[in-house]
Amino acid sequence: MALELRYAALMSPRTVTTAEILSVGSELTVGETRDTNGGELARALTDEGVQVLRLTAIPDDLAQVTDAFGRAATRADLVVSTGGLGPTPDDLTREAIAGLVGETPAVDDRLEAWLREMWFRRGMPFPEINLKQAWLIPSASAIPNVNGTAPGWWLERSDGGLIVALPGPPREMRPMWADGVMPRLRERGLGVERATRTLRLWGIGESQAADLLGEELLRASNPVVATYARTDSVDVRISAVADAGRPARTIADDTERRVLDALDEYVWGRDDETWPAAIGRRLADRGWTLAISETGTGGALTALLGELPSLVRSELNATGDGSAIPDGERDDLEAVAGGVRRASGADVGLSVAARPHGGDTQVSVAVVAPSGSHRERRLVFQRGAQGRSRAALTAASILLRQLASSQPSMPTDHALTAVQPETVR
Ligand code: AMP
Ligand code: MG
Repeated sequence: MALELRYAALMSPRTVTTAEILSVGSELTVGETRDTNGGELARALTDEGVQVLRLTAIPDDLAQVTDAFGRAATRADLVVSTGGLGPTPDDLTREAIAGLVGETPAVDDRLEAWLREMWFRRGMPFPEINLKQAWLIPSASAIPNVNGTAPGWWLERSDGGLIVALPGPPREMRPMWADGVMPRLRERGLGVERATRTLRLWGIGESQAADLLGEELLRASNPVVATYARTDSVDVRISAVADAGRPARTIADDTERRVLDALDEYVWGRDDETWPAAIGRRLADRGWTLAISETGTGGALTALLGELPSLVRSELNATGDGSAIPDGERDDLEAVAGGVRRASGADVGLSVAARPHGGDTQVSVAVVAPSGSHRERRLVFQRGAQGRSRAALTAASILLRQLASSQPSMPTDHALTAVQPETVR
């Protein structure tokens, strides 16, 4: 692969649609430092419509680093690395790239002057070991670093691809990426038109969601439809690229409709929406405020919704596992919701009680709103902190459904409608 890069006829630069990310440094492969650079760069490239093929961490070993650059360059338009640009002999990224393209590094006069000046300003002698940071090869240009002594390398590969090498420290890497790399990449040609949607679900497990979506949808390559089990949601992500004259957006829209056909009743939010944002939006639509009362949840519901501007009161009646809640109080949950609503003058009262039930947690929820009241009991997976957190999310999802089913502009008639039958799932 090195040979291809050395002797191939010089091809014109190609648009970057694929990338690989190399994180260089033994501190990463022994687990001493976490590779945060790789994830950040992957996110940034994905946002630009670039498909990231791989993230790789490599120890400070010349043969391995060279090999990693070579392999990545055969697969991806862009290889971007962080790390290995320090002044010490174990920092080998420059040597690896030079070896790969068959060029010999030489000290660049301007970089050397810039480096020496940095020590001169501080009245210190220049450590000759740092001269290595002034190296360039003929096909590389320097990416300025205003926060450190390691300039990056920008190298146009002879096969039309690109190598970008940045230093490891995030405070140096980030501004170099934002100011020295991204603008140049955009100018050069970056990414393909892409459209992504995330539908956020609650009340359904990931495997059940996958079942309802079906294999055909989940195995398709455009758009890619994938499910992700997160602590506050099961997310379905739709990611489309333009294809055969059809814009990415149209492809994503069509698939979103199919996903909603299968899963609409579980959707509580979209894209980056959080629970407080989703509930806050519906409360704001109706001009309503909220008061909550929780029992046996250890404050999990308040923790979840605490940042809601329309939350006027939250009461915590018991902590711990909730097993101490007397039966009578649990059954009187609707009175509790009505009570906290009245006492605070809020439009909506929400009460939740959680108690362990075998290895799981039983959750009772009552919502008292101007549009009516509702009571529901469910069993959620696991007990302890996990169960309490799921109890809070379940309460939030029941509140959301009650808000969604009430008309935004209806008059605030505080009379209660008939109690709906309790549902157990
Ligand atoms: P360098 O001298 O360019 O190899 O990088 C030096 C320092 O940057 C390391 O000691 C780490 O603290 C940090 N660093 C290197 N690589 C990474 C990475 N992938 N993610 C986060 N920090 C890193
Ligand atoms: Mg290093």
